[in-house]
Amino acid sequence: MRNKIVAGNWKMNKTFPEAEELLNELYEALESVELGSVQVILCVPFPYLELAVDFADDSSFMVGAQNVHDHDSGAYTGEVSAAMLKSLGVDFSIIGHSERRKYFNESHAFLKSKVDTALKHGLGPIFCCGEVLPEREAGKHFDVVKSQLEESLFHLTPENFRQAIIAYEPVWAIGTGVNATPEQAQEMHAAIRSWIREKYGEEIAADTSILYGGSCNATNAKELFSQTDVDGGLIGGASLKGEEFLQIIKAALLPFAAL
Ligand code: PEP
Repeated sequence: MRNKIVAGNWKMNKTFPEAEELLNELYEALESVELGSVQVILCVPFPYLELAVDFADDSSFMVGAQNVHDHDSGAYTGEVSAAMLKSLGVDFSIIGHSERRKYFNESHAFLKSKVDTALKHGLGPIFCCGEVLPEREAGKHFDVVKSQLEESLFHLTPENFRQAIIAYEPVWAIGTGVNATPEQAQEMHAAIRSWIREKYGEEIAADTSILYGGSCNATNAKELFSQTDVDGGLIGGASLKGEEFLQIIKAALLPFAAL
């Protein structure tokens, strides 16, 4: 059965001393938390990955990158390869975040290629999908998300698909303070799981973790995570504050019945 996952996306935030302080705070706090089957993944900026892996070696969290290039190596100035990340001890990479789609024009085909390269080197993709507000207002959100999955993820073999984590992140909810309602999240997550079921069958659909992202915080996490098909969250702003991120992790620990 799938795991609940709480992943933090620090984006382009924090200086090195600040990163060290937050990693240390989380490291110490997690010492007294029994995570059980809940996975915590910290997606920190590239320069802090090695430090995060050092902390993670002795802790219960795992480390992810926020991006990865689609080529194995070569003349791609400023880029970082999957092999580099893996050799540092990084286990995941976010792929397809809406900020990369928007500001760096990352196409479906490019994201597909990144997914393949990440998997080839043993990195688990945290694949982001989600509609912008006009698409939702036009009632196209299901079509948009389905095509993002079909174009960049559903070509995978069942064996490779099992390594992927999906994050549904409605773009209108990212960093805006306006989260999707639990009902809106559940409706889309259930649809995503049904598309996975059609493509890969019941067992893989039941085993795939589908995270919600978009203004998830310590106040709304419990209700969002209690939805049947919401298996945790990809957390941006609220992952930058140790105590708040910890509260979100604790929300993922709660059994459904306790909510
Ligand atoms: C994100 O960018 O992945 C995200 C979910 O951001 P925020 O939580 O700040 O909305």
